[in-house]
Amino acid sequence: MREVIILGSGPAGLTAAVYAARAHLKPLIVGGNEPGGQLTLTTMVENFPGFPDGLLGPDLIRAMRQQAERFGAEDRHGTATAADLSQRPFRITIDGVVEECQSLIIATGASARMLGLDSERRLVGHGVSTCATCDGFFFQDQEVMVVGGGDSAMEEALFLTKFAKRVTLIHRRDKLRASKIMQDKALANPKIAFLWDSVPEEIMDVSQQKVTAVRLRNLKTHAVTERAVDGIFVAIGHTPNTAIFRGLLEMDAVGYLKTHDGTKTNVSGVFAAGDVQDHVYRQAITAAGSGCMAAMDAERFLEHGGGGD
Ligand code: NAP
Repeated sequence: MREVIILGSGPAGLTAAVYAARAHLKPLIVGGNEPGGQLTLTTMVENFPGFPDGLLGPDLIRAMRQQAERFGAEDRHGTATAADLSQRPFRITIDGVVEECQSLIIATGASARMLGLDSERRLVGHGVSTCATCDGFFFQDQEVMVVGGGDSAMEEALFLTKFAKRVTLIHRRDKLRASKIMQDKALANPKIAFLWDSVPEEIMDVSQQKVTAVRLRNLKTHAVTERAVDGIFVAIGHTPNTAIFRGLLEMDAVGYLKTHDGTKTNVSGVFAAGDVQDHVYRQAITAAGSGCMAAMDAERFLEHGGGGD
């Protein structure tokens, strides 16, 4: 029986682990499908306070994990596949093994959204990517495309200019959603070209098992064009990782967990932190902050014998 299980090992989960471990709750951290979360797919992080010269995302995660382990947190590779929250102790199935806990912190984050094209699915890892940091290197001096108009798309496009010959950003409208500063950076970069009001309709060439071109549709003129590219980066947002809690916990229409009074969910003893419950701020520092809150909320809940809410 655990006092607390933490699902997810991004900044929210690991900060919750540091606080819970220091409160002698001996938390079990379940790493999840993407151990370390989205920071492990990032290069330089320049806006996490305390690091004036910036630091690499994976290094920040490593340091957080070491800090949690130093105080007695147990970090386990694995993914939670089912949960029974109908009574306490809660029962969490982790890769087929059931673990019981008095309180649960959900910090499972959010995952990259895809366009939903069959050709996209078939070419993932063969020229279709959701992570410029991971795959940009493979496109030295090549033609790449980025889909999306938000901050992620700007970030991906800017990063890719380090490698690619040219980056074409495809957006379905004629106005970007990204913050002004990111827009300005991308618009000013001579290596980035913009294609407005357009969406990919098909990615070629599945038969060759590599990306050779993209067929695009202009949503205003309905014109269909084809462009030769070597890679396509999909940067159209994220989906919260809450599938196993559907029907168990209150969530919004997209699937983000609803919290109240700090990090409480609608089930007493279950708390949520980080991107899994935040579709607005989504920063490492805000995720870490809410991870801290969740651990403190769990600690108070346990102190009161799990009776009070
Ligand atoms: P986002 O803000 O939700 O933007 C998603 C973009 O993809 C939008 O431009 C959207 O178009 C487009 N899109 C969505 N579905 C599409 C589809 N099926 N086909 C074509 N285009 C589609 O997501 P995000 O860029 O990942 O950013 C998420 C949050 O993280 C934001 O709050 C952002 O500020 C933050 N963030 C910040 C930074 C930074 O500060 N460095 C970096 C990354 C992310 P529409 O505009 O037409 O809806």
